Amino acid sequence: MHEFSLCEGIVKQVSRANAGVLDNVSQIKIEIGKLSGVDLESLIFWFPVVAEKLACRQIQLEVNEIDGLALCSKCNQQFTLTNLYDACPHCQSYAEYQILQGRELLVKSFSLIN
Ligand SMILES: [Zn+2]
Repeated sequence: MHEFSLCEGIVKQVSRANAGVLDNVSQIKIEIGKLSGVDLESLIFWFPVVAEKLACRQIQLEVNEIDGLALCSKCNQQFTLTNLYDACPHCQSYAEYQILQGRELLVKSFSLIN
């Protein structure tokens, strides 16, 4: 049910940014990093349930997935990281990299009904 509360958090964040009103919100755009640990399917499943509960079922959720990006501290090269425990594809070292991108869960923007 982790994703259920994430959905609530997303909707409440938009509500706060929109003076406490949800009636006029048509769409919420979020960005989810592939390394964030969020189950995207589950999030998409729960969103309408949460929207129903918070009386704003007109809101559509648009999700943009962000690739993981890491910088290897051994060979100093950047690479796409698909799983947290993958090795650097350049020098094969494990866990000696800095994650630059891919852990985020962000509300990017929301649209209002015209
Ligand atoms: Zn490396």
